[in-house]
Amino acid sequence: MINFLPGDRVAVLLPVPLFGPLDYLVGDTPLAPGDFVRVPLNKHFATGVVWGSVADPHADFTCLPVKESLQTVPLPDESRRFIDWVASYCLAPQGAVLKMAMSVPKALDPEKPPPPLLVAADPLPAGYKLTPTRASVLQAARIPQSAADLARTAGVGTETVKAMAAAGALVEIAADIAAGPQPDPDHPGPILSPGQRAAADALRGQIGAGFAVTLLEGVTGSGKTEVYFEAIAQALAEGRQSLVLLPEIALSAQWLARFEKRFGVQPTVWHSDLGETERRRAWRAVSRGHAKVVVGARSALFLPFPELGLVVVDEEHDGSYKQDEGVCYHARDMAVVRGHLGGLPVVLASATPSLETAANVEAGRYGKLILPSRHGGASLPEVGLVDLRRDHPPRQHWISPPLQQAVATCLDAGEQALLFLNRRGYAPLTLCRTCGFRLQCPHCTAWLVEHKTGGRLQCHHCGHYTRRPEECPHCQAEDSFTACGPGVERVAEEAAMLFPEARIAIMASDLLPGPKAAAALVDRMARREIDLLVGTQIVAKGHHFPLLTLVGVIDADLGLAGGDLRAAERTYQLLSQVAGRAGRADHPGRVLLQTYQTEAKVLQALATGDAEGFARAEAEDRRAGGWPPYGRLAALIVSGPDASMVETCAQQLARVAPRDPSIELLGPAPAPLALLRGRHRRRLLLKSPKQTNLQAYIRHWLGLLKLPYQVKVQIDIDPYSFL
Ligand SMILES: [Zn+2]
Ligand SMILES: [Zn+2]
Repeated sequence: MINFLPGDRVAVLLPVPLFGPLDYLVGDTPLAPGDFVRVPLNKHFATGVVWGSVADPHADFTCLPVKESLQTVPLPDESRRFIDWVASYCLAPQGAVLKMAMSVPKALDPEKPPPPLLVAADPLPAGYKLTPTRASVLQAARIPQSAADLARTAGVGTETVKAMAAAGALVEIAADIAAGPQPDPDHPGPILSPGQRAAADALRGQIGAGFAVTLLEGVTGSGKTEVYFEAIAQALAEGRQSLVLLPEIALSAQWLARFEKRFGVQPTVWHSDLGETERRRAWRAVSRGHAKVVVGARSALFLPFPELGLVVVDEEHDGSYKQDEGVCYHARDMAVVRGHLGGLPVVLASATPSLETAANVEAGRYGKLILPSRHGGASLPEVGLVDLRRDHPPRQHWISPPLQQAVATCLDAGEQALLFLNRRGYAPLTLCRTCGFRLQCPHCTAWLVEHKTGGRLQCHHCGHYTRRPEECPHCQAEDSFTACGPGVERVAEEAAMLFPEARIAIMASDLLPGPKAAAALVDRMARREIDLLVGTQIVAKGHHFPLLTLVGVIDADLGLAGGDLRAAERTYQLLSQVAGRAGRADHPGRVLLQTYQTEAKVLQALATGDAEGFARAEAEDRRAGGWPPYGRLAALIVSGPDASMVETCAQQLARVAPRDPSIELLGPAPAPLALLRGRHRRRLLLKSPKQTNLQAYIRHWLGLLKLPYQVKVQIDIDPYSFL
């Protein structure tokens, strides 16, 4: 380990958007890489991390001295290499990536040591006189407690307790702060099927055996979670930490319950809804190695694990793993990098693997384990298509006659149904009947979505909202606005008319104020207090409703309309996940997809259950076009408050782009959201073969031009969002 001695220069990385560390002078205390230090920065002090030697030890400038070294666990070497790797791959400032790893600055503050615990001395000091008061304290002190707690339990003053300790009648014992209840790998868990057992054994064998990536594939209900739990059990047995990434941690009360069933206690949880104290506690527990299993959203990847032994990415195909603001990274891909840097296994679990992962399996880079059938013997739901060209619902209605019939039959049988539409609110568009004027967001290229609850029109991109105007701002016609198209609220309204007896609830993120409300709704559904659930994609996230036997998809074409690269793949994944909600245990399920495009490949694949055929055809299209995962993409979004300045800069960028026969430059074009939160946006897209070093190209390219400070260039390597 390199040490930096007093008087040396040292490079310190700060959690601010800088592309590298700054040089400082080591003070009286020697420093080592990873140490957290306070350093002067712009007339203030900032906390940073000792990153290593300075780039140029002979540089002719004076450095300011490090103010102090924080008495806390250093940032592990693996974490620092991971930050460097992510910054370099995503072309993000190193400091911005460090900021994600230092997301709880308060966790670095000195911790108050817990008060010492006292117990009765045995034997008591010779000649110690036992008064009734003293006897009651000794009685209470059979259980180790702090002086304050002991005084309270025995009903005496703290002075009495302190005097007894001074006399040697009470002695301190070492308080083990780490010893909270830990997940127990030997806790009796559920019985695994032979297929699950084989997969679990394979994963167990990978713990401690170096880097490996394994796709764990199995349909919804096949018991993937229980299988990777066994890998966690092995890591626990070997004293290593495990990290499980989940897409929607806030809604996974059912996942936590399954974990507790297997390991006896809850894991450490990490997501954006945690309070300040919980975040601080979790960050510290991870950094000290006390948190043995962490389950979290994508940002958990940047926690400072000193003893990481396993990473699991559940629902690896899920789009929410991609962050496309700030540091643009894909948590699934970066989890694989983290595994590689740490020399540890990575498990990617999915019922509908992404084409990226499938291509890596095919190329032999990733292993694959398949769980064949639904655990517990339930059969897969039967999927049918409703051709809306033939079976059209009446005007301004969205539930077709065949779907209405199916819901009625299901409810009559005392079973539950789900109507799925991935669109929040009441109606996606409000327009004037007289002149056709559409209500748009003033800050974004987007329509305002009507929400009946709360009675307002809202922009889903920037949050702007307004009341519905009395008269049309364009033609002044009064009471002329009409709602076009359905959102979940409107479908629920129609369902209430069609099935007046049914108990109906809506599940959409904006109607559930937090994880508790979501969990309460899931509970009501599980207790059969709801007959018909109308929901957006949050219902697709792993909830488990044994009596749900019918799923109706209101608009199966919705995801295909966007027209981006992954539209068909995403639609397939989302709809098959939703379909997976139907029929568990001994109730077979049925799924009806309403569509105008019965011939679309993705819907045919869903109807025939030919997942492999679909993936093959989709992969073929991508390979032929040189699109990911067989080629590479990078997006540059040029944005600023002034439209013409943004346009000029985007044009200039395109003009100075170095010629490279392997790189195709598309654009600049107005981004589909040409105006977002008041900023005008132009988009450039780079496309290249897989082996091209796009990062080096972009670094060189952006160095050729100095843009005005009002204009920002956001780089997105491997973009997923095409907005
Ligand atoms: Zn009008
Ligand atoms: Zn907006």
